[in-house]
Amino acid sequence: MELTRLDIAETKAGLAAKTFSAEEVTNAYLERIATQDDVVHAFVEVYADEARAAAKVSDAKKADLPLAGIPLVVKDNLLDMGHVVTAGSRILEKYRSPYSATAIQRLRDAGAVILGRTNMDEFAMGSSTASSAWGPTKNPWDTARVPGGSSGGSAAAVVSDFCAGALGSDTGGSVRQPAALSGLVGLKPTYGRVSRYGLIALASSFDQIGPMTKTVADAATLLSVISGVDAADATTCNVPLVSWKAQESLKGVRIGIPKEYMEGVADMPIGPTIQTAIDQLRAAGAEIKDVSLPHASYALAVYYVLLFAEASSNLSRLDGIRFGPREPAETLKELYRETRGRLFGDEVRRRIMMGTYVLSAGYYDAYYRKAQEARTLLRADYAAAFKEVDLLVTPTSPTTAWKIGELMDDPLAMYLADIFTVSINVAGLPALSQPCGLLDGLPVGLQWIAPHWEEGRMFAAASAAEKLFAFRETHRPKIVL
Ligand code: GLN
Repeated sequence: MELTRLDIAETKAGLAAKTFSAEEVTNAYLERIATQDDVVHAFVEVYADEARAAAKVSDAKKADLPLAGIPLVVKDNLLDMGHVVTAGSRILEKYRSPYSATAIQRLRDAGAVILGRTNMDEFAMGSSTASSAWGPTKNPWDTARVPGGSSGGSAAAVVSDFCAGALGSDTGGSVRQPAALSGLVGLKPTYGRVSRYGLIALASSFDQIGPMTKTVADAATLLSVISGVDAADATTCNVPLVSWKAQESLKGVRIGIPKEYMEGVADMPIGPTIQTAIDQLRAAGAEIKDVSLPHASYALAVYYVLLFAEASSNLSRLDGIRFGPREPAETLKELYRETRGRLFGDEVRRRIMMGTYVLSAGYYDAYYRKAQEARTLLRADYAAAFKEVDLLVTPTSPTTAWKIGELMDDPLAMYLADIFTVSINVAGLPALSQPCGLLDGLPVGLQWIAPHWEEGRMFAAASAAEKLFAFRETHRPKIVL
């Protein structure tokens, strides 16, 4: 049995039946990482010794924990006490976490074995993982291409069979888009579902931590472990997860297709793959309806104005004094300028400047306040659509994975890659990307969107779709063939 091919549920079953031990699974993954990650560069650090020790402890324990002995990886913007955390940036080089993120603590408390931390775009700004200060991650389907981003390291690690599952963070698509470009399931939970405590903030009103897995059921398992109220994050809510069952058919499920998002999709190269997926859903009994989100065309602008504003204030704490390295300087002002000027990358500096601009006196009303008003309208659009349908479906990304280096000098083109994902964060809704087919050998993702707190409804439908698409059964990336 090839242990690294198993998903979380299969690994759990094998461990419970004592077909293999946690130590064996962990060693199998560590061996794969040691021989293959030179090519992929999913990891910024592998915790080999610690992981082996944790696996041994897991084998010795009898406790029936939900993730006992399951090897997972985490994005490099989640604090893990004692471990370095850099958010892909030189401004946090060698910075050690003084405490653990609630999500990581919950994984560890549930028995998971953490194998290492994964590469990402600097401060989670980007859709390619190419802006990491530690070099780009490669897409295992074609190593000349990006795995998506910003959680590209987590995506590449799961699809390369370096781990059973991963955590990423999603502020505007950073779990769903790399999941789509890498052929995985990626879930962005309802805002407030998962504690943000210990997640290095990008835009606090959008950020959520989410699972990246091989199956819908695995995403649900990880969500059940990491979610729930946390006294350390006042935005977490006490809304229990809705229980769900894998469905055989989609009979009676009303699925809305937002027409503003689908206009133009037919002419995109991904168009036919998305249409085939929708046809499969219809054939399985779903009722497919056109719906309207009248303010959809504002979503990208609203997202980026608010993101720049929140990011510029969040990143002001990285001043060269409190965290990370410091550039030599004579005066305090010079210290700020040298440290922030030299150690932040281009995209981060660009966003800090734009955020400062949209928040400045005189422009605040024109940009920040307007975007907040439009945010309310976007939320209302979704609420109205969910009066007519149970779930919405769109593509996750307008394209498949692009070549490494492409779009790097065209930030606007990079922002446009987020057209289908950002409005979900603006509205605080849960959404899930799942692979629905291949186009020229590269995965295409389908995005499901549910009303607030209705992840369960989405899991039920997406698990039925998973059987229809049979993606994992029929396609494997080159790196793991
Ligand atoms: N690509 C989007 C951005 O650059 C989303 C990032 C994210 O979700 N962290 O802002």
